[in-house]
Amino acid sequence: MAGKIVQEGIAIGRLQWVKTQETIGIKHTGDPERAVASFETLLETAAFEIAALEAKARDTIGEEEAQIFQAHQMILQDPVFIDSVRSAILEECFAVDSAVEKVFDETIAMFENIDDPYLKQRALDIKDIKRRLLNIWAKSDDEEEVLLAGPVILIADEITPSDTLGIPDGRLVGMLMKTGGETSHTAILAQSLGIPAMVGCGNALDALGHGDEIVLDALSGQWLINPSHDTITLYREKQDLLQKEKEELKQYVGLPSMTRSGQKIEIAANIAGPEDLKALLENDAEGVGLFRTEFIYMNRTEAPAEEEQYEIYKQVLEGMSGKTIIFRTMDIGGDKEVAYLDMGEEANPFLGYRAIRYCLEEPEIFKTQIRAILRAAVHGKAKIMFPMIASVEEFVKAKSFVDEVRSDLAKAQIVYSHDVPLGIMVEIPSAAILVEDFAEHVDFFSIGTNDLTQYTLAVDRQNSKIASLYDYMHPAVLALIERVVTTAKRKGKWVGMCGNAAADTRMIEKLILWGIDEISVAPGRILKSRKFVRNLS
Ligand code: PEP
Ligand code: MG
Repeated sequence: MAGKIVQEGIAIGRLQWVKTQETIGIKHTGDPERAVASFETLLETAAFEIAALEAKARDTIGEEEAQIFQAHQMILQDPVFIDSVRSAILEECFAVDSAVEKVFDETIAMFENIDDPYLKQRALDIKDIKRRLLNIWAKSDDEEEVLLAGPVILIADEITPSDTLGIPDGRLVGMLMKTGGETSHTAILAQSLGIPAMVGCGNALDALGHGDEIVLDALSGQWLINPSHDTITLYREKQDLLQKEKEELKQYVGLPSMTRSGQKIEIAANIAGPEDLKALLENDAEGVGLFRTEFIYMNRTEAPAEEEQYEIYKQVLEGMSGKTIIFRTMDIGGDKEVAYLDMGEEANPFLGYRAIRYCLEEPEIFKTQIRAILRAAVHGKAKIMFPMIASVEEFVKAKSFVDEVRSDLAKAQIVYSHDVPLGIMVEIPSAAILVEDFAEHVDFFSIGTNDLTQYTLAVDRQNSKIASLYDYMHPAVLALIERVVTTAKRKGKWVGMCGNAAADTRMIEKLILWGIDEISVAPGRILKSRKFVRNLS
């Protein structure tokens, strides 16, 4: 999947690329006094526009969203900001737009360098205001940016709240963003508005043109460009079905995930960060079967510090009030690039230097994450799981790092949890084949069918040309899954499944027969899976 789903659903519409701001550069004014007066008028116009958006947000979405624009007004009125622009005009003779650009760019850079994901995302608010001011100054180039007819899907490097609210009611149906920003206001707005949205899609969006019609499937994380009439009809039916299902499924909140014959499993969810907590609670997740922690490392300029990670992990543990969270240590590489880690170009990145292979070579990065998890674990119930394990030796080495961290923490008298089981993802065939050996060492297993299928069948999980060959119900894949579940149970080990196959009812039926303890699915699939389980005899 290229990118991260921040709001699930299906959207059908035309792509409206949001124009990126052109750089102004340094221009000078011959009349600084007059330029300052013009700057003041500019501020008034911007304040007027923002007040209108604030009122609209309050009427159409809610108070919390309206506050985004109150924050914009406060930034605009901030004396430090106003004085900085004024002095750039008066002392350096900068033209108004150059002065605005200079001051805003400095502030944006400052926010982007802060080691806190929330504050980092606030840079987007400042970019939003900068764009507004410069557009007004340029007598709104935006007027040329005609809104396409019909439902639109906004697409951009970064979408700002103003972009979303600038679209007439009911016309905005989806959003696609190149950069990250799970805690950005755009993601928050998408969730409040219930608009299917994906962020962090990167260069995959370059293939999408302004005005193209697409189906955005923010359930599987894909999009179809210029779909046929039949495809659109199919997805419209899916949309109707989704709506009906959503209503009907609410009755399963609070019920146990138990078959008619009394066999109970846990239905947990896969998450990428604390922003998924709301969906976890709404859908009554029984735990987190896979926290893809690598997302915390993505779309930034340096690795998150221990303290920042600790706060994020703690938030999730506390938010789930004692339910188990399985932290998968960072699974970087393959399709999940992190530029600052400098992992280099590879001919076969999915088979390359990635995930645990990278972590074992970079103990500092790895141990920082482990420290943060072990410390946060006192605030709830945590397990640690290593990705891409191919041999027992790798697990033993990874465990030795955890042991080192434990003893460092103990020596430094830092509080940490002594009760954090260690397990592996079974996503490489060798781990499935050697499950009996692994059972001597690990506390638990979780089957990652997304990769297990790709590696067992030698089918690139991302290549649409061979998508029909990618089949987790292939007898060879099923044989490995059966082997892992039944062997784990025979050896008295806990076993779950966190790959996408866990949401497939055909798979659930088999897993229950074999004795699985847990399935972990996207939050939006929990209640549907529970309904299925409760109807099984
Ligand atoms: C998997 O491989 O099945 C899995 C759950 O992990 P990811 O999709 O993040 O590779
Ligand atoms: Mg995987």
